[in-house]
Amino acid sequence: MKQSYHLGLIGFPVGHSRSPQMMKAAFEGMGLYGSTYQSLSIQREDLEKEWKVRLWEQWDGCNVTIPHKVAVLDLLDEIDETAKEIEAVNTIVNIDGKKIGYNTDGEGYLRSLEEELSLDITKQRVFIVGAGGAARAVATVLAKAGVTSITFYNRTTSKAEQLARHVSRWTDSQIVTQVDAWEAIQTSTLLVNTTSVGMAPNSECTPIPVQWLHDGLIVSDLIYNPRKTKLLTYAEEMGCQIHNGLGMLVHQAAIALKIWTGMDAPVVTMRDALEKSLKE
Ligand code: NAP
Repeated sequence: MKQSYHLGLIGFPVGHSRSPQMMKAAFEGMGLYGSTYQSLSIQREDLEKEWKVRLWEQWDGCNVTIPHKVAVLDLLDEIDETAKEIEAVNTIVNIDGKKIGYNTDGEGYLRSLEEELSLDITKQRVFIVGAGGAARAVATVLAKAGVTSITFYNRTTSKAEQLARHVSRWTDSQIVTQVDAWEAIQTSTLLVNTTSVGMAPNSECTPIPVQWLHDGLIVSDLIYNPRKTKLLTYAEEMGCQIHNGLGMLVHQAAIALKIWTGMDAPVVTMRDALEKSLKE
């Protein structure tokens, strides 16, 4: 086992990311002193050149964020089964020059949900707002975990249709538009916001009208900045159980660290570091 690792994050933009602070705390907790985690801002059109020229000179692995999660699929030597199913990669390991891609977002979400709420995942009728990359990871993992059904609602309906088709091999799935969304939510048990609507600095917005919520719902928001979005604030006032994106961020990173190092990551320490960095 190595004593230290050189890891990083690629995306554009990456300046806002709290992952470096969280990873620094993880390295200390794991005794991996001297390890580094560096954010590298790479524009979409520069990915291939950076990949060939300098990305892998020193790195043992990296995380991947917007807009490269799908584009890296064509550059990898091998892709793990879950990442193939999600059709996106957020973690890459470099083993003697061979780059292997994984996706830990969906599993990170599921672990966080199960850790923070006591719920029987197989009994959930899920309503997902959004149909982008995060929705794809979350929906795939929830569908494979055996939820009863998933309904998708997205600004661009064609993307919701595509995602509903994608998960239909594992669960009942359908899409709704604005006309029938309210009705579908009334029979749902878990509502997940996977859009960026409500994220700082636009934290006054909600991805759906809050009048659509009901007190029998668990409301989950992948956003972690602010920690309590407007959607979660209203949901809590209404008596719903709420869940934010912090745990997903911690757990997807912990799973990535296990892939890179083979070691269990200190999730409590990582979460504390993340909370602290969000307050700064
Ligand atoms: P993405 O692929 O760009 O997808 C964005 C989604 O948001 C799409 O469904 C898009 O709808 C919708 N959307 C964006 N602006 C909208 C608006 N003004 N009105 C209505 N819908 C809008 O991004 P992503 O990677 O899925 O990320 C989405 C969110 O998840 C972000 O807030 C991100 O921070 C969060 N996230 C959190 C974690 C975590 O660890 N907690 C991990 C990954 C992502 P269209 O399809 O119509 O464009």
